[in-house]
Amino acid sequence: MSEYVKDLIADVKAKHPAQPEFHQAVQEVAESLDLVLERHPEYRSAKILERIIEPERVLIFRVPWVDDQGEVNINIGYRIEMNSAIGPYKGGLRFHPSVNLGILKFLAFEQVFKNSLTSLPMGGGKGGSDFDPKGKSDLKIMRFCQAFMSELFRHIGPNTDVPAGDIGVGGREIGYLFGQYKKLRNEFTGVLTGKGLNWGGSLIRPEATGYGAVYFAAEMLGTRNQTLEGKTCLVSGSGNVAQYTIEKILELGGKAVTLSDSNGYIYDEAGIDKEKLNFIMELKNVRRGRIKEYVDKYKSATYFAIDPNLDHNPMWDHKADCAFPSATQNEINWIDAQNLVKNGVYVVSEGANMPTTIEGVNIFLDKKILYGPGKAANAGGVSVSGLEMSQNSQRLPWTREEVDARLQLIMKNIHATCVEMADRFGTPGNYVNGANIGGFLKVADAMIDQGVV
Ligand code: NAP
Repeated sequence: MSEYVKDLIADVKAKHPAQPEFHQAVQEVAESLDLVLERHPEYRSAKILERIIEPERVLIFRVPWVDDQGEVNINIGYRIEMNSAIGPYKGGLRFHPSVNLGILKFLAFEQVFKNSLTSLPMGGGKGGSDFDPKGKSDLKIMRFCQAFMSELFRHIGPNTDVPAGDIGVGGREIGYLFGQYKKLRNEFTGVLTGKGLNWGGSLIRPEATGYGAVYFAAEMLGTRNQTLEGKTCLVSGSGNVAQYTIEKILELGGKAVTLSDSNGYIYDEAGIDKEKLNFIMELKNVRRGRIKEYVDKYKSATYFAIDPNLDHNPMWDHKADCAFPSATQNEINWIDAQNLVKNGVYVVSEGANMPTTIEGVNIFLDKKILYGPGKAANAGGVSVSGLEMSQNSQRLPWTREEVDARLQLIMKNIHATCVEMADRFGTPGNYVNGANIGGFLKVADAMIDQGVV
């Protein structure tokens, strides 16, 4: 690592203490960019890296709301408007009790590079709240969403900032948020993506992140003349990304054997087939139950509760070929990474954002496995969000086949960009460098063109 990058990281840590996830995301990108800054001193003199790590704007606001028992609740709302060099801010909203400024800044920072990689005109942003939707009634969720949008509406718009879903924000929440925005603004515009199909949503948006992560894995396998046919896959999470990851793995002839939530995981050696996946979708999206219930229905499977005393996650310690982490950040540490490699896993395609720690990533890179980092592998979701924006502007919905074909092409192009950039900067096969550099160059050039703003 160069002195310049070392100083930059030290400065970020000193200026923004207590934001470890943000430090981690910056460090990973800055290390890749060392290679670029050496060849392009113009980025250094324009202080592009120093500017790109500072959000253009951070909004923090109070979200007061009254629940169905008449009790007053207060949550914190955030929107990080990170970078608008190549388009309006774009990125999801996360509702989860762990949400804080550092986590949203890491997500917004990653989003800038990811959105650039899609080749669509979208800047980067992220937002959310420490509100916990788990176990809450629809009425409570609606009241919270309305209170949240009552402040956010004045900062967003179809040409300014276009939020979407993320952890804890799915179709139901987007509906309530959109309804409140429409009421306050008195206009029907594409201000959010992930909308319902009857009111401006795009076909394939719910499927896009999971499908995209599998398309990316298929592209990586293609570099070794292999396919997903017959491959055993470990999948974490059981939400939006995990569900559609499994759907596409099945379509391409693979077998998924795990799923998880924050209480534990299930291992089903026989494989999670279409019928079992339908059960999970109903369990998670309609009944909003826990993954543990899977083993009550399917006796071939085993449930393992989370053991907080363990220094690793046993879910990553099963024989397999591929892994699709699709739950949350830092769910694979260096021990998990070692276990994955030991068990034969040689393809990791990240549906989640930054699910692997830096030490874990280094193990994947050392072992030269096919490792697709989140900002490339999970870009399918925001890509179809971009396509939803196009359809909204045109006021013309596209068919399922058309959107899926575009998604596949975008994932193919992202993969090609990663491979090309990794080659060009002397680290062939390193998708981390490829994604960071590929995402950076377009934004950096736009920032130079637009002056110091
Ligand atoms: P989701 O539908 O809310 O599902 C999240 C899943 O992960 C749930 O099963 C949840 O379990 C589990 N989870 C969350 N936090 C956890 C924790 N701390 N420990 C263990 N399990 C945890 O969210 P999602 O949309 O699938 O998002 C999953 C990941 O993909 C996130 O990293 C997100 O940023 C990323 N991503 C999503 C999209 C998108 O389009 N949705 C796009 C790009 C990237 P519980 O129910 O127990 O909380």
